[in-house]
Amino acid sequence: MRIFKKTSGSQVVAYCIVVQSICPSNGKVIAEVTQATVSEYEECVKNSEAAWYTWTDLPEPRRGEIVRQIGDALRKNLSALGKLISLEMGKILPEGIGEVQEYVDICDYAVGLSRSLSGSIFPSERPGHVLIEKWNPLGVIGVISAFNFPNAVYGWNSAIAMVCGNTVLWKGSETTPLVSVATTKIISEVLERNNLPGGVASLCCGGSDIGKAMASDPRIKLLSFTGSCEIGQQVGVEVQKRFGKHLLELGGNNALIVDEDADLDMVVPAVLFASVGTAGQRCTTTRRLILHKNVYDEVLQRLKLAYAQVMPRIGDPLEENTLIGPLHSETSLRKYKETLKQITKEGGIVEVGGKVLDVPGYFVEPTIVTGIAHNNSLVHKECFAPILYALKANSIEEAISLNNEVPQGLSSSLFTQNISKIFRWIGPKGSDCGIVNVNIPTSGAEIGGAFGGEKQTGGGRESGSDAWKQYMRRSTITINYSKQLPLSQGIKFG
Ligand code: NAD
Repeated sequence: MRIFKKTSGSQVVAYCIVVQSICPSNGKVIAEVTQATVSEYEECVKNSEAAWYTWTDLPEPRRGEIVRQIGDALRKNLSALGKLISLEMGKILPEGIGEVQEYVDICDYAVGLSRSLSGSIFPSERPGHVLIEKWNPLGVIGVISAFNFPNAVYGWNSAIAMVCGNTVLWKGSETTPLVSVATTKIISEVLERNNLPGGVASLCCGGSDIGKAMASDPRIKLLSFTGSCEIGQQVGVEVQKRFGKHLLELGGNNALIVDEDADLDMVVPAVLFASVGTAGQRCTTTRRLILHKNVYDEVLQRLKLAYAQVMPRIGDPLEENTLIGPLHSETSLRKYKETLKQITKEGGIVEVGGKVLDVPGYFVEPTIVTGIAHNNSLVHKECFAPILYALKANSIEEAISLNNEVPQGLSSSLFTQNISKIFRWIGPKGSDCGIVNVNIPTSGAEIGGAFGGEKQTGGGRESGSDAWKQYMRRSTITINYSKQLPLSQGIKFG
């Protein structure tokens, strides 16, 4: 990071921060990006507010048509944008491309939504009256996103927010600015082609300074925040101080339960995929593996063999044979090392993995740990790296209680062939998470579906059946089409 002075003649008008986009595969600088100053942020908000007057006047299906064109433009750039995600974030290429595809899919969903956004009419108990519930757009929606989904998180929010009639102001992660810029350029070309103002979908590059400005700004009618529980809580409080609306999609600490009658041939690949995929940097990554005592040894043994097979396939995320890319940053690497140090101190056993690769970049081995108690503070914290704690349970009841005992409530999964246990798991005494899966892992199944978690994960719902309601305000309207007013009988009003 460096700072330079913006001058006009001899006068300093602003101090600008320049951040470096670092390639996680080799630690080298890809590009430098100038962050927005607070006065440039002001300009962005004013443009978003001004653009709203044009945008919200378009009928919903016309807005849907623009979002359809954005989806098409993303389709054309699927491969290039997917590669940029891999280069800058570090996820493997099929995942980089898959992420853009998720944005495309949500555009398709939003186009359909633009022709089905509905209100309701209710009968009134008064004669000659009708009650209407009408949904109106909010205005400017702010989106703050995390580094691990540098493109799709913005897509999930913006496609729906836009068809609802809002303009969107985005601040991506300061460590993935190139993806934010490239995505916005694709959208701005569509807006220009349709003679629409760029303020309909604007980008303000920046770090916590811009994030804080958004949180406290009453002109941002809804702030959608995706990131850690720690920062999310600060953002939530800040937005609440001004009685604003927020949508929080925060950290997870996801457990996968293997019951004694689970199909272990399904379990092993599922756990592998969900715990090592994206090098453990998905919000829905499996971090706790809760094994019934009768299958504990076998599952652990088979997983160790599976992990051994993927170790040689850690490498450059842009190469075809690679299954596991690097951690995203030096900070992530430091947290992985610190957590492992703490695990050893607490008497944990590293069953497999546990090493930092002696190569340039931020590569680490995916790791399985045993010997740490289920209620140890390490197990209750999300370490955003591929570390999996194996835990033992004596019964399904105990397993569910272990699943629910952590403060986060994002994703969860049960592998069993027993129908009674499935219904217990998905019912009131089951998983307390927002995502409750059966015979499919904690991660991956959410694609194209509904995100959102409970407890410290924030309670937000970014996608799914009625997510659009969060981007709108409901007006409850009573229309009197009679010639009578209540309480007016017998009184002369002149
Ligand atoms: P982070 O909390 O460090 O940063 C997220 C965003 O917040 C970034 O854009 C950052 O610049 C911004 N920010 C930092 N300080 C701020 C402040 N004071 N006010 C406003 N904004 C501020 O998270 P990260 O490391 O980028 O991402 C990883 C985390 O995100 C993990 O905890 C992961 O589980 C979570 N995540 C959750 C979901 C979900 O859907 N629930 C999806 C992806 C990631």
